[in-house]
Amino acid sequence: MDTNAMTLHRGEVHIHLLSDGTSYWDGGGTFGLVPRARWAKVLPPDELNRVPQELRCVLIEADGKRILVDCGVGDKPNELIATQYDVRRPRGTLMDDLARRGIRPEQIDIVILTHLHGDHCGWATTWQKAAGRAGEAQAGAPTPAPTFPNARYYVQRREYEDATHPNERTRNTYFAENFVPLMQHGVLTLLDGETQITPSVRVALTPGHTAGHQSVVVEPEQRRASSARDRSGAPIFLIGDMAPFMIHFERLPWVTAYDVLPLVTIETKRRWQRWAYENDAVLISCHDTQQPVGRLVRNDKGLFSVIPLADGEETTR
Ligand SMILES: [Zn+2]
Repeated sequence: MDTNAMTLHRGEVHIHLLSDGTSYWDGGGTFGLVPRARWAKVLPPDELNRVPQELRCVLIEADGKRILVDCGVGDKPNELIATQYDVRRPRGTLMDDLARRGIRPEQIDIVILTHLHGDHCGWATTWQKAAGRAGEAQAGAPTPAPTFPNARYYVQRREYEDATHPNERTRNTYFAENFVPLMQHGVLTLLDGETQITPSVRVALTPGHTAGHQSVVVEPEQRRASSARDRSGAPIFLIGDMAPFMIHFERLPWVTAYDVLPLVTIETKRRWQRWAYENDAVLISCHDTQQPVGRLVRNDKGLFSVIPLADGEETTR
């Protein structure tokens, strides 16, 4: 199944799954303290102990806006990405995926970044030749600039502060050229917690993976107006790296080795697990290669699992 050609429809809202490729990196990083013998059954590693991770991005068309959530690793030369991320792109990049949908960079209105790790904000900027003012020494020299020239970018203030003050633990994944130029060009809005971005789209602070990590909730207006538990109007939840694979969302103690606040991640997941279950939410994963989309169910022992959407739900490929 090509997991990257799916579109979800909710009335006037359309949600397209896109990808910037598949990255292969160490399974120990993805599964943290979970013993290898257990995670290897869920996601078998290759001979170098690497597991495939989709670099999934999501395009939301809602309220007359085109909203991109996360933007892969990008194409700026970066030795760490080249050596550690091992990105394979048989279908091309995120930009190719947007082009296949007939969308040009200037048509993106809003970019929401769940957090600023290198695999989530790469295409936020690209190397571009500056117009340059007359007499300026650097006139015409390429610099990283916003890829989507008409977009406003959103990230949590806490995330931006942490990303611009990295320490020995975090600096291998925060690359300033991905986000500092957004601030320099005046296109970045720093958020303080939950924020309604458009009438149907809001962000919520979901700390743990990073202290300033945010997730995205798409809840078309008619759903909020109706009291009926109508499946076709259930909210859609872009989990982000709060739970990079669906198994992380099912099992509270499964937390990646990269989470800076793992105990906070568990409490964040506990809260959103309950919310997703009670609201019958459609879940979208950012890295899961096998199950990009699903819904949380609970068995008679009280254990949660994520199952595929029912046949006939409003999706197209
Ligand atoms: Zn990630």
